[in-house]
Amino acid sequence: MSDDTTPPLPNPDVLTQPFWEACRERRLQVSACEECNHLFLPPGPCCPRCWSTRQTPRVVSGEGRVYSFALYRRTYHPAIPEPYVVALIELDEGPRLISNVVGCAPEEVRVDMRVRVRFEDVDGFTLPRFEPLTMTGGAS
Ligand SMILES: [Zn+2]
Repeated sequence: MSDDTTPPLPNPDVLTQPFWEACRERRLQVSACEECNHLFLPPGPCCPRCWSTRQTPRVVSGEGRVYSFALYRRTYHPAIPEPYVVALIELDEGPRLISNVVGCAPEEVRVDMRVRVRFEDVDGFTLPRFEPLTMTGGAS
């Protein structure tokens, strides 16, 4: 059971448990297909490009860009007060994941903004969130 002070948390299964264990060790890990070398998230039973079931975990840089985002100005869960940003992050290595952009004002988040992973401990989980790579932003 959860209460109002506990945010919704991941529910790992046999496929996603290694991802969350890597996060706990401050490593961002994706799945690498052994057949076609495609890198992907979320973890799954087979490569979404060639359907091979042969894959290995690969640690990535944790750097990427904001592919798209939404700025929430309404509180849907008491443990997650507005405003907050839910973003689709495209890692430099290719895979995309849904996360939050933190470490700056929500109004400062932009598409193509350079970000890097920042691991945050929340109620026994370590969540990969993203913060601006530079304070100044803009082209680099
Ligand atoms: Zn593949």
